[in-house]
Amino acid sequence: MSAVAVDGVWKYYGDFPALRDIRLEAPPGSCLALIGRNGAGKTTLLRIIAGFSRPGKGQVRILGGSPRETATRRNVGFIGHGIAVYDELSALENLTLYAKLYGLENPRQAALEWLEHTGLERVKDGLVREFSRGMRQRLAVARAFLHNPSVLLLDEPFTALDDRAIAVLQRLLREGLGHGKTIVMSTHQLREALELASHVALLNRGQVAFHGPCTPEMVADPGLVYARYGEG
Ligand code: ATP
Repeated sequence: MSAVAVDGVWKYYGDFPALRDIRLEAPPGSCLALIGRNGAGKTTLLRIIAGFSRPGKGQVRILGGSPRETATRRNVGFIGHGIAVYDELSALENLTLYAKLYGLENPRQAALEWLEHTGLERVKDGLVREFSRGMRQRLAVARAFLHNPSVLLLDEPFTALDDRAIAVLQRLLREGLGHGKTIVMSTHQLREALELASHVALLNRGQVAFHGPCTPEMVADPGLVYARYGEG
């Protein structure tokens, strides 16, 4: 069974087909890098995979279930364009709140563990409002990993991060892959992404132009996929 399966997904915004018959699969333990130029449809696709938006046609399965089911959501971590933490709560309160929402057995302990993993232990009682951008970003990373999800869906995860947050995220993703987690991430940063990716999918104007294993050739020359399969 695929960890993530996208089967014949279409999405229209008015008359405009943002996604056209997308078919993709990510086996358990794989890391799929979703690449493509601005407007190719990466964000639209990830939001549909995460269950935030419904496809016009086709379906998505995550670990065999619908992305909108509670049981599936408990197994999915998401990093999107927003940070999705509360400014008026402390870092510890934020993570404890999310841990409760996910129904974790010991919310406070899970929150403390993830503050430690992301280097925020020292500032755990500080209000997020007073955090630097980098600290907020690390908190967003902690939130995505907190409930130990088997599937991570990441929309441009490296773009908004500072160097320290990039290092934290790369380490966590590498460890996650080592533990059999499945990752689907959209990215402009080919180099960072291809280092982690086992598979690559190139979207071109809402269609899959290429989908296959990430080869050493691609890692050595990240522009290769665009040169070979892009619209030029
Ligand atoms: P980027 O790298 O710039 O984020 P992307 O590959 O993620 O691009 P999407 O954001 O998925 O692309 O957008 C795909 C297409 O759908 C674009 O042409 C965009 O203008 C259009 N689009 C996205 N969201 C909407 C919306 N809510 N209403 C209308 N059109 C939209």
